[in-house]
Amino acid sequence: MVVGGGNSAADAALTCWREGARVTIVHLFEELDRGVKPWVRPDIENRIADGSIPALWRHRILEIRPREVVVEHLETGVRRTLANDWVLAMTGFEPDPSPLTRLGVEVDPVTAVPHHAPATMETNVPGIYVAGVVVSGHDANKIFIENGKLHGPLIAASVAAKKTSS
Ligand SMILES: Cc1cc2nc3c(=O)[nH]c(=O)nc-3n(C[C@H](O)[C@H](O)[C@H](O)COP(=O)(O)OP(=O)(O)OC[C@H]3O[C@@H](n4cnc5c(N)ncnc54)[C@H](O)[C@@H]3O)c2cc1C
Repeated sequence: MVVGGGNSAADAALTCWREGARVTIVHLFEELDRGVKPWVRPDIENRIADGSIPALWRHRILEIRPREVVVEHLETGVRRTLANDWVLAMTGFEPDPSPLTRLGVEVDPVTAVPHHAPATMETNVPGIYVAGVVVSGHDANKIFIENGKLHGPLIAASVAAKKTSS
């Protein structure tokens, strides 16, 4: 059972199904989340439509037992007990900024974006750089592989420039 309707849920459901697992999606809403990537959406939607991966929309899990789960429809309150071995709760994540703050890097309390210069990726602590998805704080969809990999050259150039000037 995969809980959620975002990219992680779609990826997990499709991967498990392709590896031979029987997968059911349980989601609070009536459809997949709008942020599901365009190249993943047809795959997961078609698997749901043809019944390969059943989706229980507007459902939540009430109870997880060793070999079954109890799910409930949010409006009707109808409960079902389904045979189940594993539950993957793909319900989101938040960055843990504590390794940065321990170094003295200022992290925005609302956005969780670390204070940094976008041209060099250097934080407010000289010599400490940030790269990758951590740069986008809570909004993980802003940085992905294609733009996250651009951070490396900026950092390398900054480090090289410092070496040249020292
Ligand atoms: C479901 C899903 C689908 C995606 N699909 C795509 C896609 O199709 N195309 C695309 O471009 N991007 C995609 N992305 C985004 C992409 O995965 C990320 O942008 C990318 O992985 C970010 O790389 P990163 O190295 O910054 O961070 P991560 O890949 O998250 O790496 C961070 C690493 O740091 C480790 N770590 C964390 N805290 C600590 C600590 N305290 N000490 C030591 N290690 C620590 C973690 O274990 C992890 O290994 C997807 C993301 C998700 C969740």
